[in-house]
Amino acid sequence: MSSIFSKIISKEIPADIFHEDDICLAFRDINPQAPVHFLVIPKKEISSMADLTNEDEAIVGRCLLVASKVAAKQGLQNGYRLIANTLDDGGQEVPHLHFHVMGGRKLTWPPG
Ligand code: 5GP
Repeated sequence: MSSIFSKIISKEIPADIFHEDDICLAFRDINPQAPVHFLVIPKKEISSMADLTNEDEAIVGRCLLVASKVAAKQGLQNGYRLIANTLDDGGQEVPHLHFHVMGGRKLTWPPG
């Protein structure tokens, strides 16, 4: 299913992009919940974690590696949280797989 993130990938709508390669994109969340809050998404249209298949293994690996590298570049040496909200119960709003990376303040646990 196409979503707003397809339009960010195609540059039809702007985003503050931190990283782009052939497989994934990292950009600032438009409604940040922490001083640093960015999303890492695959360019392939995968709806959610629940839709991953074996052929997506390298894609997910790249996304997580990019999350780690961008977090370091964004100054999150003190730590951060990596989240993939999944489907309704997980609170997923955009139906395109994405990993939130949030940091820059002490985050509480558990989430609601
Ligand atoms: P979800 O609830 O699906 O895990 O999170 C979707 C995230 O995408 C939200 O944190 C929301 O702020 C972010 N978001 C939604 N639309 C846009 C957009 O057009 N641009 C950017 N940069 N972020 C968006």
